[in-house]
Amino acid sequence: MLDTKLEIEPARIKLNMENWQHQANPWKKETERAWIEVNVENLRHNVQALKQAMQPGCELMAVVKAEAYGHGGDFIAAQLNQMGVTSFAVATIEEGIKLRKNGIRGDILILGYTGAQGARELFEYDLTQTLISLEYAKALNEQGFAIKAHLKIDTGMHRLGIASEDIFSAAAVFFMENLHICGMFTHLCCADSRQPDDVAFTKRQIRRFYSLVKALEKNGIRAPKLHIQSSYGLLNYPTLSCDYVRVGIAMYGVLSSPKDETALKLDLRPVLSLKSRIVLIREVKKGECVGYGRSFQAKRKTRIGIASIGYADGVPRNLSNGRGMAWVNGKAAPIIGRVCMDQLALDITDIGHVSVGGVVTLIGAGCGGGSAPSVAASSGSISNELLSRMGARLPVVAT
Ligand SMILES: *Cc1c(COP(=O)(O)O)cnc(C)c1O
Repeated sequence: MLDTKLEIEPARIKLNMENWQHQANPWKKETERAWIEVNVENLRHNVQALKQAMQPGCELMAVVKAEAYGHGGDFIAAQLNQMGVTSFAVATIEEGIKLRKNGIRGDILILGYTGAQGARELFEYDLTQTLISLEYAKALNEQGFAIKAHLKIDTGMHRLGIASEDIFSAAAVFFMENLHICGMFTHLCCADSRQPDDVAFTKRQIRRFYSLVKALEKNGIRAPKLHIQSSYGLLNYPTLSCDYVRVGIAMYGVLSSPKDETALKLDLRPVLSLKSRIVLIREVKKGECVGYGRSFQAKRKTRIGIASIGYADGVPRNLSNGRGMAWVNGKAAPIIGRVCMDQLALDITDIGHVSVGGVVTLIGAGCGGGSAPSVAASSGSISNELLSRMGARLPVVAT
């Protein structure tokens, strides 16, 4: 056999073009492999619904950190700006600078730490920095640039902020000559829970914040803007009256997890869909394996669709081996074998006719796809993590 020279005549090779009948689709480059679809109308709807749910005088601070929870930071912030949103929050100075370079107007609050050496850029790009401790405030003040800042108060989460009992430290920050304190805020750590002990804890956090506000006021100190709530803070404590609500996940139209109940039930609509295409269809015989580690073995003759999306695009690897589904032609196809970096395999035996080029929905913003909370739950996580880890190589397409 090895000695025999093969006589290959390309013209005589038989091709099976049956699965290729839709290849003539008018494909756009961005939607050829894997992409994120952003529904701008749903974003607009959510912004309106959230604004209406807020107390009078309260402003929506749009949290657009981590590329707007994977939705594309520049695009989402620009859309929000057009919708009249002029208050933004990001996690890092780089995120803030990027928004400014893209022409975003209004206030941009950096929620996380920025090295004191960043003072010049904070000033030049007109960014507002969170003060996470007294020592940090001192270091930033000493850089000699006039910096806008919000003072963070720790009321029990014990992450960032000056302790709510430490009135002296909180007051001291207001006397630092280069820091212009535009706001003061705290963060609730269990506002998503409706368990009585968590509710009691949250109320204690709120009381601690306002006792500090009062104590400072007695000394003639007042931060112009006060804020406490993020998405669940608004949804579970809607009567709280602040100057801002820092809304992230709810603005993107989903809750963190599918079983969450909230006091306020808003009609929120998912903004993001994650899609890919079937690039190859094949059949494997009973007993054959699919993918790394041979973790899937066919129990029957199985029709397989290979989708061009993987964990580097944000599909959690622990959706492997049937823990996750994708939607093809409106029907659920189990993920079989292990999710690879750039591809995954679906069992499409039972879902009727599928062609190469067929759209695969991994996270759906409505009909037919799994919602972000349920997909996240299947992978043992929450929507916030699933969305914010959407791969940087995915193009964002607006619908
Ligand atoms: C990320 C973040 C938010 C937004 O939280 P969501 O639950 O997504 O609304 C608000 N505040 C702070 C301090 C944050 O870090």
